[in-house]
Amino acid sequence: MFKALVLNQNEGKTTAAVEQLAISDLPEEDVLIKVDYSSLNYKDGLAVTGKGKIIRNFPMVPGIDLVGTVEESADARYTKGDKVVLTGWGVGENYWGGYSQYARLKADWLVPLPKGMDPIRTMQIGTAGLTAMLCVMALEEGGVTPERGPVVVSGAAGGVGSVAVAILSGLGYTVAAITGRAETEGYLRALGASEILSRDEMAQPPRPLEKQKWAGAIDTVGDTILARMIAETDYSGVVAACGLAASFKLPSTVMPFILRNVRLQGVDSVSCPYERRTNAWQRLLTQLPENALGEIAQIIALDEVPDYAEKITNGQIQGRVVIDLN
Ligand code: NDP
Repeated sequence: MFKALVLNQNEGKTTAAVEQLAISDLPEEDVLIKVDYSSLNYKDGLAVTGKGKIIRNFPMVPGIDLVGTVEESADARYTKGDKVVLTGWGVGENYWGGYSQYARLKADWLVPLPKGMDPIRTMQIGTAGLTAMLCVMALEEGGVTPERGPVVVSGAAGGVGSVAVAILSGLGYTVAAITGRAETEGYLRALGASEILSRDEMAQPPRPLEKQKWAGAIDTVGDTILARMIAETDYSGVVAACGLAASFKLPSTVMPFILRNVRLQGVDSVSCPYERRTNAWQRLLTQLPENALGEIAQIIALDEVPDYAEKITNGQIQGRVVIDLN
């Protein structure tokens, strides 16, 4: 028997409780994994609290990330004892996920733990950190370099935002951080932000074109903040959009695109192809400053997840939360 957080639905309301399960309760898939750690992402918060329509089939074990050790594998790519990482692919949404001491998953979804990366660090990074790296790669692919000028990051004290600030600053970019929590200024400066911008000011609806300020931008929140970032981006700059913590709306105009050659690049981590995914993990190993993760992450127990899920959906979590399943 082992412990898992199980979501059920009762009269339209989602309930979350730690339950004892048997291995035979797990869905049939190729690889049985003993889970060491999972993490808490915004999407997990929506799933566990039921505030977002993330889960359609109950009972469900949530948790979109996990790192663990292979116990049994019907797939030749993995053998007992291998360390593996899982993020995305609908795990923790449509398939039982990482808030469990054991999981059974498809081999195709797994990535071998990058050599030299320890399991806790992997979950300190998690889907949020992977997404932050994919956003940085999107800027680079659009030609944004540190010499081109500053990069602005929204939702900066959250998971994706914090890791994005740390990576960019480690790569030599000048970083401006947008936050709604003035008290996180010291934290954001420690991660490498050199300018702190107020969420309220950045959320003012922009004119079609504003004064050019940014070579690039990473947005985790959507709505008028994303619209303002686009309107303030330099000629031929790139905006990478990955989130909707404020809203899924984008009240923008075509002007920055047709007059300033601005590129808006969407970023998805869930179905990111294997090669790009492993490349991003490899870069996270070497390019995310070691001391940054100490600042960014905290570790909690499985039974604390419902409380932290509520907090992340209220924008009250700073950085990343790791869940210890040992
Ligand atoms: P977090 O909750 O950790 O961070 C979100 C941050 O957004 C908050 O910390 C807060 O930052 C800011 N924020 C919250 N509410 C609002 C609001 N109403 N208006 C403006 N800013 C707000 O979440 P994650 O970092 O895990 O995820 C961030 C976003 O990215 C989510 O929308 C998530 O769904 C998305 N995402 C997308 C992925 C993809 O593959 N495309 C993968 C991972 C995440 P502050 O306090 O600094 O203002």
